[in-house]
Amino acid sequence: MQVTALNNSCAYGQPGIFRGHLHFGNARLSGYSWPLCEVRGTRPGPRLCVSAGVHVNEVSSIEAAVRLQRLFDPETIKGSVSIIPLINQPAMYKYSEYVCPIDDKNINFTFPGKSDGTFSEALCDAIMNEWCAGTDCYVDLHGGDLRENVARFSIFQHTQNAELDALGRRVAMCFDADIVMGLPAAHMEKPGRPPTGFARHGRLALMSEAGSNGLLDEGAICFHVEGVLNIARTLGILDTPVAPFRNARVQCDDYLWVDCPVDGEFHAEVEPGERIKKGQRLGTMRDLFGETLVEIGAPEEGLLLWRITHPSIPKSAPVLAVAVAEKPL
Ligand SMILES: [Zn+2]
Repeated sequence: MQVTALNNSCAYGQPGIFRGHLHFGNARLSGYSWPLCEVRGTRPGPRLCVSAGVHVNEVSSIEAAVRLQRLFDPETIKGSVSIIPLINQPAMYKYSEYVCPIDDKNINFTFPGKSDGTFSEALCDAIMNEWCAGTDCYVDLHGGDLRENVARFSIFQHTQNAELDALGRRVAMCFDADIVMGLPAAHMEKPGRPPTGFARHGRLALMSEAGSNGLLDEGAICFHVEGVLNIARTLGILDTPVAPFRNARVQCDDYLWVDCPVDGEFHAEVEPGERIKKGQRLGTMRDLFGETLVEIGAPEEGLLLWRITHPSIPKSAPVLAVAVAEKPL
């Protein structure tokens, strides 16, 4: 990868604050550059990479990645913190929901990607193997696309590697979340989110989710910012104390999507973060005469992770997701 520096930047790789643009080496990504802020301490230590804007309408997480750039001081940190605040550059100002407009792929489900694949696949490969090369932890911030409301949650990947599992859980617990989601190990069998793609190579990545409906929300912004600062404290980059937690951080180990059974208008009866019982009515689908077409029931006992907020939902599109709490041993 190559970088070009702005005027108020230190030289890349030197102690100080680098501000500029990153150009990946893969020719499939030529023509695009990524804004990069990298704070490098005068003392050696771990490397933390942070990104947002895989989904460009998830603006609270993007704003968090902007604010984080000002919260690390090269004189006091150990190691480095590298931040790309908007990954899906082809989608910028296009407001596209979930996908990269060049190949219509959802970057979030394309890790680890491949260097000779489509734009999104090449980008995931470049994130992992160029920008995040040698990083101790990668955190990708999300939440609250134009038609969704999400609970405050964090995600790590369950693997067959007990040490990596323990580290992933510990770092995911750095967020003051309603729900800490350990994705089932079966997710590793196909391309997936950053925690999944990195875990396939024995590496650590996490996600955080908070926000709703493409709105800047101070609470959601602070959730992401404080979580990343707590990760930096846990890794030893910052030596300030971990911030206190107020939320339950319920540990969950399954992530169930519920698809809409019919075309219609969704009227929800629960909100993200709420506990739900198996079979409980979570909402109804109605027609445009106000008649109930079908009830949407909870597939399992757990907590509501997110729901679609725009009522009009076509058959087979996702309408909500449920987090299943870990069974006590
Ligand atoms: Zn997202």
